[in-house]
Amino acid sequence: MLKPIASLSCDLDDKWTYMKSYGLALGTPLPSYLGAIVPRLLDFLKKRDLTITVFIVGQDAALDHNMEVLRSISDMGHEIGNHSFHHDPWLHLYSDTQIEREIAEADEHIERATGQKPVGFRGPGYSVSIATLRMLARRGYLYDATTLPTFLNPLARAYFLMTAKLGGEESRRREGLFGSFTDGFRPVKPYQWRLDDLKLIEIPVTTMPIVKLPFHVSYILYLAGFSRALALQYFRMALDLCRLTGTEPSLLLHPLDFLGCEDVQDLSFFPGMKLPFQKKIEVVAEVIDLFCQAFTVLTMREHAHRQANRADLPVIELAPSTGSSDAKIFDSPAVGMRASSDTRFERR
Ligand SMILES: [Zn+2]
Repeated sequence: MLKPIASLSCDLDDKWTYMKSYGLALGTPLPSYLGAIVPRLLDFLKKRDLTITVFIVGQDAALDHNMEVLRSISDMGHEIGNHSFHHDPWLHLYSDTQIEREIAEADEHIERATGQKPVGFRGPGYSVSIATLRMLARRGYLYDATTLPTFLNPLARAYFLMTAKLGGEESRRREGLFGSFTDGFRPVKPYQWRLDDLKLIEIPVTTMPIVKLPFHVSYILYLAGFSRALALQYFRMALDLCRLTGTEPSLLLHPLDFLGCEDVQDLSFFPGMKLPFQKKIEVVAEVIDLFCQAFTVLTMREHAHRQANRADLPVIELAPSTGSSDAKIFDSPAVGMRASSDTRFERR
């Protein structure tokens, strides 16, 4: 029987990106674990004959000492995506000019380091705005992969702010981190944004259909910290729900999924970072093997191409351009996500 398709990606967040989100001092050179994690990731994928999408941060691609390790990802045939230049999770607060610089500079350095020109973008911290989507479409991007449709976003943010212990201004910048409650109303299945006369495919980070609970690998590892059996049962349920609802899932990996508490001591405050590497990798292997048994796993670019060729792809029309301040409109699903008459995501 022909298996349904799915996609797999990894946000190559380096150590400094986590420290930056938590408002910690970075110093120079930027704290990094890329040299340790990338070979582990590539080896893991090679053993399973998997080709995925790796979203790279422009700042990492701009550093000469990262060239070799980043090129090795591309050399193995993986797709390279753009994960912004500075990995600022408050990208949605930026002006059009700042957003363009973030995307353009990352594009330039990523292409120089990996030889690939990205056609896919994932904003840091699931931060998305109309201004960013428009800029991507204008620059000829095929897809965006930033949205995380879940109702748990405010809870994730509350947990983050509680553990990060940041001051007033720093906390305010992170108000949009992980998105808002209304993100839960966004579709789980892929769709197309139409912005003025521009088009862009959206491949959401898939959450459990109907209940919209996250099931990316880091979340499963977090649950495995309580009970491994329950975490795997939860993941199986998510895959079953995807199959039942005809959802082609896009699953997300993070570098921390390949690092144990013995590898990085100073990120122990992060969910799932109290487990040793061996314990984590066993869960990651089981999760990915289950995923591959149920679906034919593609890169996100291939996943997006398949969507682009679908005649029945749902369409969401965004309000005409009014400058970057329209990021706010986007927060209201009733106004910002005005669906065109051929939108079918709610009825399917
Ligand atoms: Zn990231």
